[in-house]
Amino acid sequence: MDILNFELSEEQEQFRAVVRDFAASEIAPNCAQWDREEVFPVEAVLKMGALGLFGLPFPPEYGGGGADFLTYCLAIEELARVDSSMAITLEAGVSLGATPFFLSGTEAQKEQYLLPMIAGTALGAFGLTEAVAGSDAGATRTRANLDGEQWVIDGSKTFITNSGTPITKCVTITARTGPDEISNIVVDSGTPGFDVAPAYRKMGWHASDTHELGFNDCRVPADHLLGERGRGFQTFLSILDGGRIAIAALAVGLAQACLDASLEYARARQAFGGPIGRFQSIAFKCADMSVAVENARNLTYKAAWLRDHEKPHRQAAAMAKLYSSEVAVSATREAVQIHGGYGFMEDSPVSRLYRDAKILEIGEGTSEIQRLVLARGLDLPVE
Ligand SMILES: Cc1cc2nc3c(=O)[nH]c(=O)nc-3n(C[C@H](O)[C@H](O)[C@H](O)COP(=O)(O)OP(=O)(O)OC[C@H]3O[C@@H](n4cnc5c(N)ncnc54)[C@H](O)[C@@H]3O)c2cc1C
Repeated sequence: MDILNFELSEEQEQFRAVVRDFAASEIAPNCAQWDREEVFPVEAVLKMGALGLFGLPFPPEYGGGGADFLTYCLAIEELARVDSSMAITLEAGVSLGATPFFLSGTEAQKEQYLLPMIAGTALGAFGLTEAVAGSDAGATRTRANLDGEQWVIDGSKTFITNSGTPITKCVTITARTGPDEISNIVVDSGTPGFDVAPAYRKMGWHASDTHELGFNDCRVPADHLLGERGRGFQTFLSILDGGRIAIAALAVGLAQACLDASLEYARARQAFGGPIGRFQSIAFKCADMSVAVENARNLTYKAAWLRDHEKPHRQAAAMAKLYSSEVAVSATREAVQIHGGYGFMEDSPVSRLYRDAKILEIGEGTSEIQRLVLARGLDLPVE
């Protein structure tokens, strides 16, 4: 019996090839245009749904693929090699939209919300962040007061992914339901008093959907409470552990794309009578990048493996997210450098990677917050 096995299973390899083909045929030919026009490509997202991507890590009884978490990470990695916007649309749809219903929904809520999300015909969003509550998410100011059989919601959320697409079914928000109580409440798209602001203009992830949300005397039925009253914050923290592994997988895919593009350019680009790849300054950048990508992938797959084997994985998820996102950002910097002036042009393969990478060090917990999690795990009295 193998004690340590670095091979993917045949099923995982096969599924990875399916996603790779899909990304090459359906996303690669169009993603530069989506990026330029800043459009959310709903038809492509529906095709991702038809391929089963949004149901991958959920059990077959809910219509899911019954795959392990690592297979879901492989799908994100493959999409991110081609387009981060589609990779984050999948990640947010699964880890932030559907997972809260899977973990804490009633059977009726699962039927109404989770099933169409798994089928990939609807998207859910998760609204935690507020203008004055980001890393300090416990500082949430949005309130939900029970008035008879209805929650009355007042407040706002910022930077919420997948919250205003044509197929967004709902957003689950964290809200104060008592003095020391934060709960999760589901708000259906189109509910009166729920305002979705125009999409943000962002540095990257141009084809991903991100909005500010407003709640003004917004009323939803009492049974829109998701999970136990007062447990909203804890539920969210456990959702984040999985989300961070998935973001690490996205970072691995993006960093691999930098390596692929850099190698191709280093072989093809001629200067001083030969390919630039013969200069150590270029070749060593590629060599270092290959080590970093391999390390990031190993940390990410190990975190996914720990999760699949129901072992503690908060530290491993933080390590994978911190390391992989920093690798992705520095890989884009080096890849642009290797491409010279062409790297600065929008039609080079690396300039979009450069713009798309930075958010990875910020979303689902900044690098500083990952270091905080890790330092606390080391029993340091860090603030
Ligand atoms: C494109 C995009 C999509 C997003 N999607 C979603 C979504 O779907 N749902 C959602 O809820 N949120 C979403 N977010 C929000 C994201 O999770 C937050 O931006 C992130 O958690 C950081 O919060 P903040 O922006 O308020 O920064 P702040 O918390 O204000 O941080 C500012 C700086 O201070 C540092 N800092 C803060 N506290 C500490 C500390 N204790 N120790 C050390 N340093 C600290 C931070 O690391 C950072 O460098 C999204 C953001 C973006 C940009």
